[in-house]
Amino acid sequence: MKFPKCNLHTHTRYCDGQDTPEELVGAAIGLGMEALGFSGHSYLTDCDWCMTPENTVRYREEILQLKEKYRGKIAVLLGIEQDYYSDPAGDGYDFLIGSVHRIYADDGTPCQMDDGKEIVLRDIKEHFENDVFRWVRRYYETVAGLPEKTGCGIIGHFDLVQKYNQDKSLFDDTDLRYRKPMLDALDALLDRDMIFELNTGAIAQGYRKEPYPSAYALRWIAQKQGRILLSSDAHCAQNLLYGFSEAAEYAGSCGIGGLTVPDPDDPGTFRIIPLGSDGRYRFKRK
Ligand SMILES: [Zn+2]
Ligand SMILES: [Zn+2]
Repeated sequence: MKFPKCNLHTHTRYCDGQDTPEELVGAAIGLGMEALGFSGHSYLTDCDWCMTPENTVRYREEILQLKEKYRGKIAVLLGIEQDYYSDPAGDGYDFLIGSVHRIYADDGTPCQMDDGKEIVLRDIKEHFENDVFRWVRRYYETVAGLPEKTGCGIIGHFDLVQKYNQDKSLFDDTDLRYRKPMLDALDALLDRDMIFELNTGAIAQGYRKEPYPSAYALRWIAQKQGRILLSSDAHCAQNLLYGFSEAAEYAGSCGIGGLTVPDPDDPGTFRIIPLGSDGRYRFKRK
């Protein structure tokens, strides 16, 4: 299916990506992309995959330089993937993706959500009384607070608890103990008019066969006329538009009628294009 050639969720060598920002811009132009947004991981303590404070400064400078250098060829947008537990991002970003990568157990232990299934299983056992649904609930309670805590406009990989659950070995995702907290978070975020990523990153990594959020969540978003943005969570140039055609089809099968893209006249804002259109449009050549 046709899809807009635009991705806002891109990691570089400033955090855990493989390529430099300029290599990614070159690849994006080669792919005929109209907009490429960068979203380095915001700084967290005890984290080896996020940007250091020094790197964050350099990252911002470089992306802004690239924005000028490639103006007229591609719209380069400066964003950040702002973790719930990071200090405020500050001003000057075109967009903020709010994400939860870490939750805190009642005993105060930080528990990583996507550093491997073994770590998740160990944390549930040792810090959530071996109750996976307590762990699920804590995740969604945290996610629901993203807009207030981070000031984000986009919700990153909603449903991350499903990363290692393609085979349903972690939990049954028809269980109300999953669905209730998930839908509560969804409703809270829909009330705040958040844009949800349809994130193909875990497919590219080989963990999942479908994007986040799950079909059930996506149908709920469709019913409430929530907004969806295709997003590859790319950590290398080859994955900039990974699985977008299939993801667009998946969105359609869940009742989503349109995809959200940056507004060509004002890349910090968004508009919706009908599903099945490539949304080709031209950013203003200022
Ligand atoms: Zn993330
Ligand atoms: Zn990411």
